[in-house]
Amino acid sequence: MRYVTRFAPSPTGPLHLGHAYSALTAFERAQARDGAFHLRMDDGDTARCRPEWEALIYADLRWLGITWADPVHHVTARGDIYDAALSRLEALGLLYPCGCRRRDIHNALSAPQEGVPVDPATGPDGMVYPGTCRTRSMPSARDGDAVRLNMTRAVAHLGDVCALTWMETGPFGTGQQRLNADQLRTGVGDIVLSRRERGGAAYHLTVVLDDAALGVTEAVRGMDLAEATQIHRLLQALLDLPTPDYHHHDLIRDAQGKRLAKRADAKAISKFRDEGLTPQDVRAMVGL
Ligand code: GLU
Repeated sequence: MRYVTRFAPSPTGPLHLGHAYSALTAFERAQARDGAFHLRMDDGDTARCRPEWEALIYADLRWLGITWADPVHHVTARGDIYDAALSRLEALGLLYPCGCRRRDIHNALSAPQEGVPVDPATGPDGMVYPGTCRTRSMPSARDGDAVRLNMTRAVAHLGDVCALTWMETGPFGTGQQRLNADQLRTGVGDIVLSRRERGGAAYHLTVVLDDAALGVTEAVRGMDLAEATQIHRLLQALLDLPTPDYHHHDLIRDAQGKRLAKRADAKAISKFRDEGLTPQDVRAMVGL
């Protein structure tokens, strides 16, 4: 089978060194295997994505020497596919609407126990949802509700989830990984699959459907997403999608060890370019 991978930037700002490293890693893995490299524009968050950021991403990638297969894959063009997947999960009785705001969830999770405040448990999808709306059914959905996956039911629907495996490489660990029912129920919980503020389907749903549509055989991305792979594997099983291998690479950090992606002031690739640095300089800066 031909190797296929992708780089999936969100056009919500300029690319920085961490993105350059991720894009170059994926591109070079594809080249080394005579495979295909795709661009997946993760532009579903329409409130934050801008065409000018998208244009800058293309310019930065070209400057780095990266080329990609036509056409660029846009999340915003695939609403029907995501809706069909949501309908399928709804028909299985695995979804419910949720009107909780972040603050409600935080308050429910940090309610003092025996007088002692507790830190909300977090998983790969943020705070582990306490289940406030879990008894609601989809017909009761109101404008502005998010849609959550009932994780306990999803796990029960699949039966023996520990038989669901994937291949993982990278600094996070190499070898076959498998789903764990307890971890999914208590460490991940009822994830959001569609959200009110962001015009539709959430990242976990879109990424599994898009990787399948592109025929990705190995998803290459930062190790900050390694924990999310269990969610993706679960959704692949629920939606009968193929499972690619996963390569989670190291993250590029600043001198204080903070992840560049989390720094508002992380320096844009375009700034290095404007200052006269070469693509080789940027490669050297990220250790390539
Ligand atoms: N847009 C996502 C990110 O930059 C893509 C993650 C992925 O490659 O799956 O974090």
